[in-house]
Amino acid sequence: MKLIFSISRSGREGSSIPKSDVPEVNAIPQQFRRKKPAELPEVSEQEVIRHFTALSRKNMGVDTNFYPLGSCTMKYNPKFHERIAALPGFAELHPLLPQLRHGGVLTQGALAVIYEAERILSELLGFSACTMQPLAGAHGELTGCMLIAAYHKDCKDEKRKIMLIPDAAHGTNPASAAVAGFETVEIASDSEGNVDLEDLKKHLGPEVAGLMLTCPNTLGLFDRNVKEICRLVHEAGGLCYCDGANFNAIIGRIRPGDLGFDVMHVNLHKTFSTPHGGGGPGSGPVGVAEKLVPYLPVSRVAKRSDGTYALEYDYPDSIGYIAPFYGNFGIILRAYAYMLTLGKEGFRRVSENAVLNANYIRCRLSPYYDQKYDRFSMHECVFSATRQVAKGVHALDIAKALIDRGYHPPTIYFPMIVPEALMIEPTETESKDTIDSFIEAMIEIAQMTETNAEQIQQAPLTTPVKRMDETRAARSPVVADLGCPEM
Ligand SMILES: *Cc1c(COP(=O)(O)O)cnc(C)c1O
Repeated sequence: MKLIFSISRSGREGSSIPKSDVPEVNAIPQQFRRKKPAELPEVSEQEVIRHFTALSRKNMGVDTNFYPLGSCTMKYNPKFHERIAALPGFAELHPLLPQLRHGGVLTQGALAVIYEAERILSELLGFSACTMQPLAGAHGELTGCMLIAAYHKDCKDEKRKIMLIPDAAHGTNPASAAVAGFETVEIASDSEGNVDLEDLKKHLGPEVAGLMLTCPNTLGLFDRNVKEICRLVHEAGGLCYCDGANFNAIIGRIRPGDLGFDVMHVNLHKTFSTPHGGGGPGSGPVGVAEKLVPYLPVSRVAKRSDGTYALEYDYPDSIGYIAPFYGNFGIILRAYAYMLTLGKEGFRRVSENAVLNANYIRCRLSPYYDQKYDRFSMHECVFSATRQVAKGVHALDIAKALIDRGYHPPTIYFPMIVPEALMIEPTETESKDTIDSFIEAMIEIAQMTETNAEQIQQAPLTTPVKRMDETRAARSPVVADLGCPEM
């Protein structure tokens, strides 16, 4: 791979802007200026374009390949929403426009988008209100945990320091609870992949602040006892948090607020039409039941009696600021466009097809791959490569072999309670043809495991980078060696 510094040639320029015909003024005070010129590669504009285009082609993305990365909901996002987000009236709106706080005319449209998106999302979730501000799913979890803490504090019940987290939870749940100051305690799953009610009862008590349930869970299963779980936690004085990053599976059909949850986040960059991957940007709005509304972060977008919108800050019980300005507005805007495009019926079709596609894969692959929990799944299905391991082929090998066949691998080795897990999420946006070809590839890999395991163990053979020493890459990464002159 050619690195940009290795194609650098002294004197080459990447731009052709005419020379300025007005005197140069350097407004940056001397002490803040670089001591010597920055060492940048000297390349022509065309070389830069070719370099980055070539790099982008080495990548897999939803726009190029089927991407069944479980839990991540890598679905296709309509380009129409990108056009809406790029409209100059939105894209060029500066967050520091002085009118913002006073409902100025330039910002009215943006405030209306946030307000209306929040109303529709609250309706979909079955909650009284949402904050659209959190910048990721995990940030939403943290916000939700802070709301739970604020609630108990207000009730003079500060001894509630324990957050219960089932072992089928997403990994961010215990991390977010810990950052919010809670002690986390794990709850076991039963033999069907539900929360073990007996284990839950054992852990409930006057120190429990709440429970964080990933729903549907990371096994792709909907917990049959979800109402009973909420009832038990409430009875013990705790609150119920729903990790709703898997909302794709139930959107338009079930409202988590109706099931008994008090607070929940969703991932706009999964369920609501924002492309993601590579670390952002994201958006993880949090919905709350009536009793948690007073603690929502500021600012909040309010609609005044004269029909104008304004950012309001006067909420004395609020947990305060959690994000700069008002979150990732561009993502809220895409979500709003998506909501209006789909409407009520459209959302029902999203969850219907997401679940149908996952179960189609589950049924067709079940003769070839083992399942720890063999039951109807929601939007994703989890296999276990235990049968293949007997022939020396691990989940990792299957993932690599899929790359050779043109597919992004599923999530592997997660959830951790399934040995050699392969977690496949096809999403609702894939055609039956694509899903059938993927199934054929999975069957071929299973058959080759019996006859020619070695070839699967050597995959990938078709990629620019072959198999890496992943342990070394994680433990002792060399991140600065980009072939640059002295950095
Ligand atoms: C993706 C995901 C999260 C975390 O979302 P981020 O935006 O990556 O922080 C939490 N829970 C579940 C179930 C998820 O799939």
